Amino acid sequence: MEIYELTAAETARAIKKREFSASDAVKAGFARMAKYEGVVNACITIIEEDALKRASEIDGRISRGEDAGPLAGVPYIAKDNFCTRGVRTTCSSRILENWVPNYNASAINYMNKAGAVLMAKANLDEFAMGSSTENSIIGPTKNPRDLNRVPGGSSGGSAAAVAAGYAPIALGSDTGGSVRLPAAFCGIQGLKPSYGEVSRYGIVAYCSALDQVSPLARSVEDLALAMEAIARPDPNDTTCDAYDRPKFGDALAMRDLKGKNIGVFAGFEAEQMDADLYKALTRAGDMCREAGASVRPIDLPISVKYGVATYYVTALADASSKLGCYDGIRYGTRVDGPTLTDMYVNTRTASFGEEVRRRIILGTCLLTEGFYQNYYGPALKVRTKMAEEFESLFEEYDAYLLPNAPSMPYLLGTKETDPNRMYLGDVFTVPISLGGLPGISLNMGFTDGGLPLSVQIAGPRYGDSKVLGIASVLERMIGRPAVCSPKKLEEAA
Ligand code: GLN
Repeated sequence: MEIYELTAAETARAIKKREFSASDAVKAGFARMAKYEGVVNACITIIEEDALKRASEIDGRISRGEDAGPLAGVPYIAKDNFCTRGVRTTCSSRILENWVPNYNASAINYMNKAGAVLMAKANLDEFAMGSSTENSIIGPTKNPRDLNRVPGGSSGGSAAAVAAGYAPIALGSDTGGSVRLPAAFCGIQGLKPSYGEVSRYGIVAYCSALDQVSPLARSVEDLALAMEAIARPDPNDTTCDAYDRPKFGDALAMRDLKGKNIGVFAGFEAEQMDADLYKALTRAGDMCREAGASVRPIDLPISVKYGVATYYVTALADASSKLGCYDGIRYGTRVDGPTLTDMYVNTRTASFGEEVRRRIILGTCLLTEGFYQNYYGPALKVRTKMAEEFESLFEEYDAYLLPNAPSMPYLLGTKETDPNRMYLGDVFTVPISLGGLPGISLNMGFTDGGLPLSVQIAGPRYGDSKVLGIASVLERMIGRPAVCSPKKLEEAA
């Protein structure tokens, strides 16, 4: 096996045993990048020199017999909305094109402290608003499983980088599905933790009521390892809970699902979604049964039906106020004009892309008198109803299986121009976000044509270990996804 094919756990173990060095691991990642980045376009900024320097520092510590951390020498990639000291952080937007933060996001500090080595900042939809990683200043990222298709979004660069073997772990952010969807589309694993589990300090906000730092990897074990590194109390983020986290890796000791109650989404008829994904969901339910669980079909009438509308009202309102700070004075790009108001208008018109402008305008409307009472207020009430629906579900069930998306990864350029179609693709991820629940996007193998299948496993709030355990039982039955060498599927046939 080549170094780039190993998981983070395997890489860390091999480095500890001195089978190869941290520098070898990081160089192997950059070699993959050199080979495929020209076509995949997963990264906005590559920090090779810094990464190699850090890897050799770690090698020095290991050779002196020091403990360099549980992830010592493991390369990783972070979405370009994580602040990184001295490394520009663009959010894929003209407005922050040249912005260099003077501090690190807490999650970056925690990964570094665990010994992981940051290689690059990954592509995303501008300000994490999107589901396909097509709305970007560097252009779309291509899905490494089939270069004609989108990688999902908004953490599409992070997911593509992990699938293509640049690094075994990446950090993304998930507000309404932005890690679960790209993990599903790129054929890897992704976890959106419970709201409050991981500090968001230093993540450029899209919707603070929902944003969560979320890891992507090619194994459930690596998701647990990443959680051990990043999920901890942080006085810099008051929404990050102060409790002592469990050792997430212990969840992997779960051998079967005996005694577990598992619900399977039953709100759609087979023909309402992609047939292969419907089969994957049914198969996941059957596998839970084989592993000893009691499995029953469950419909959540409120959450799936009203999720998309509730999410977009909440998220756009929040986003319009969060993005108010980009005024041409405090941050980034400025386009002057004869008056202060002209300067604001010129700067914001020239520097935000079409989708971000649409969301700011809609969100601003939603917060005005009248709209607030008719849309924003009701959305908050529906959100409470959804939370109640989930609460009563999880009184009885340990986990809930549902799809990550109603469709397979689609062809580049096909949905980008129709925002409503794009938003509807979030139907299965946004309810879990609105509930503040943990959700894992688990790979369920591939179609005969080579496209990834997946299932989403959601659990009760703070049941992150439980969903990791259940996912690990299923992963052992399915096999974990391997690195792919990016190609166009038609050409491969
Ligand atoms: N696709 C959703 C949106 O565009 C989710 C994005 C995200 O989770 N950051 O809002």
